[in-house]
Amino acid sequence: QLPVIYVITPTYRRLVQLAELTQLAQTLSLVPSVHWIVVEDSQELSPDVIRLLQRFIGLSIGHITHLHGRMPEQFRANDSTTPYTSRPRGASNRNRALHWIRENVETGVVYFADDDNTYDVRIFQEMRDTKTISMWPVGLIGIHGVSSPVVDPSTGYVKAFFDGWIGDRIYPVDMASFAINVQLLHQNPDAVMSYRAGYQEDSFLKSLNFTLKDIEPKANNCTEILVWHTQNGNYKSVPSFALKSRFENTNV
Ligand code: UDP
Ligand code: MN
Repeated sequence: QLPVIYVITPTYRRLVQLAELTQLAQTLSLVPSVHWIVVEDSQELSPDVIRLLQRFIGLSIGHITHLHGRMPEQFRANDSTTPYTSRPRGASNRNRALHWIRENVETGVVYFADDDNTYDVRIFQEMRDTKTISMWPVGLIGIHGVSSPVVDPSTGYVKAFFDGWIGDRIYPVDMASFAINVQLLHQNPDAVMSYRAGYQEDSFLKSLNFTLKDIEPKANNCTEILVWHTQNGNYKSVPSFALKSRFENTNV
């Protein structure tokens, strides 16, 4: 029997939300043994997302859990003193999902799949046998267009990380670049996403207490790109009914 992959997707209301979620839902429909955890950055579940997920639950996607976890007020989008890229995007919703997994799941694999990335279905095949933590490259990241663990060919271990921005990070990697075994979450009950923008991956991974030798390199020893950090946020102006998955004829 295949280990279940718990795919955690933080999402928030914006022009492209339903388009992105439709795309991701259809991708996940091609993946066996998936439990999708969709967590809205909101005070309550939105009817549009409920309606969208309803079409997939138990049909093309075996299990879907729909939650919400609102970003704390001081980091929120309409706070003009906090530019978008300085916000801890998705932290509160990912933490909500981590809490749910610790309460409800004993075995399986956990992956953080943002709603705007592009996933080759083969990445799910790669991560499914993750024993502790697995890693692989992510395309379309930063000035070099790729972020990747560097594998030492003589040992087979990850020995370094390549990324356009290292900062003061031990693990300069993207959220889409790793998967972990659920056991690692239970062994490190305090591991959560921090609210420091740009450092969510690094601080989360550090709090999981593994070493470089624990990292299982995937995607042909980290030489293939099977996930891309696409960003579709550039649709500034569309009629407001395009936000809806269903609209009233009388309002158009
Ligand atoms: N996100 C969120 N609330 C926000 C901003 C972003 O829940 O206020 C989600 C978003 O839907 C995505 C993830 O957090 O799944 C990362 O956000 P984004 O893709 O905008 O950030 P980037 O990829 O640029 O780091
Ligand atoms: Mn993104």
